Amino acid sequence: MKIAVIGTGYVGLVTGTCFAEMGNTVTCVDIDEAKVSMMKKGRVPIYEPDLENIFRRNINENRLSFTTSLEEGIEDAEIIFLALPTPPGDDGSADLSFVLGVAEELGKILKQYTVIIDKSTVPVGTAERVREVVAKNAKVDFDVASNPEFLKEGFAVSDFMKPDRVVIGASSEKARALLGKLYSPFVTADNPIFFMDERSAEMTKYAANAFLATKISFMNEIANLCEKLGANVDAVRLGIGSDPRIGSRFLNSGIGYGGSCFPKDVMALQHTAHQNNYDFKILQAVSIVNNVQKQLLVTKISNFYKGNLKGKKFALWGLAFKPDTDDIREAPSLEIIKALTKAGAKIVAYDPEAMPSVKKHAMTDGLGFEEDQYSALKGADALIIATEWSEFKTPNFKTMKNALKSPVIFDGRNLYDLEEIRKQGFYYESVGRDVVA
Ligand code: NAD
Repeated sequence: MKIAVIGTGYVGLVTGTCFAEMGNTVTCVDIDEAKVSMMKKGRVPIYEPDLENIFRRNINENRLSFTTSLEEGIEDAEIIFLALPTPPGDDGSADLSFVLGVAEELGKILKQYTVIIDKSTVPVGTAERVREVVAKNAKVDFDVASNPEFLKEGFAVSDFMKPDRVVIGASSEKARALLGKLYSPFVTADNPIFFMDERSAEMTKYAANAFLATKISFMNEIANLCEKLGANVDAVRLGIGSDPRIGSRFLNSGIGYGGSCFPKDVMALQHTAHQNNYDFKILQAVSIVNNVQKQLLVTKISNFYKGNLKGKKFALWGLAFKPDTDDIREAPSLEIIKALTKAGAKIVAYDPEAMPSVKKHAMTDGLGFEEDQYSALKGADALIIATEWSEFKTPNFKTMKNALKSPVIFDGRNLYDLEEIRKQGFYYESVGRDVVA
């Protein structure tokens, strides 16, 4: 099939590349000229495991191309995916200006029947709005469908290739048939396509993200209570996770969720509820708990140094909002950097992938970088861990101890076994577990 993907970020680029890998011809459109020129040269603008190989292969096979021109990009396309940003507006609502702006343009340039698909996370009712906006100018027949994306950054390619499920909201039979055909190589009897109406599909995405955020905030509250009661949240996690009604995944406690999706989607759903005179109390609590949790290590560190952080030097392992991505949007690390440098501390950070993103978007006085995890420790008063990259999980504790000024670790991701860290002779504070002193 001939497909156009508008917006070539984490979702759009993975979507376009994976559809090309299945033999479709895909044109990716982006307004960011630097990004498009980079991709035309065969370079992937984001870090996402397994993406580079299939990206290059499909460019070489002439199935994947890039342009900044919407008109050129959609030429002959049977299906157009909108994978555009939907950032939070000042009131927490999803900003639809990118989606509706492109929809307006599309109406003017569509030349044949096309299915336009919202892949962006958009509030309930957006498919109808897109339909209206396109229809203002369209001279040809078209359909609008909703196909929310559930990929996880860091696993985006495997999630896309082997999705748990595909959700398609489409009232038109023609659109359903086309999308069913497009997705047929990706689904199995156990991981099927769920066809539904557009509104339900849009709601499914928000319900999924809001539920996952709720799971995180719930476990973080359990962890905070465990600390007060002398219980170990990791033991509790195993204890409850073995119940299939609860499930073992997504139960780790830590320093809060970040990323471009959970914070904004929770806010947007709250806003939708508010607009519809519904008081979604749980979601309010989910955001409040998360905002407090993002400050947890700062509070622990400040208590440890009795509020005197001026002149202290901290090593920081991890900047990305989670492992296996270079994405730093809403990352807890940024809150830690902001608070500690404001209090007069210096930070030397190391992250396997996200240092360029921080240098570009979140530089601040008092923040420096090192090219490997151990160099960052040299002469530091303590180590702070903000992201659970694999390479931090089984480090050389002797090297760490030699490099640090004092053997002190504040771990926001519970990477180490308490007995092991005691044996290694560290002072160690983590989340929802006893302090090792
Ligand atoms: P992103 O910011 O990484 O990418 C968006 C891209 O759109 C950018 O490259 C930008 O230059 C481009 N763009 C902006 N305006 C444009 C225009 N007028 N024409 C063409 N391109 C334009 O965003 P993302 O993380 O890929 O997210 C996209 C959507 O998918 C959002 O609604 C998000 O909530 C949703 N989503 C994201 C994820 C994720 O893990 N990142 C997962 C599921 C759903």
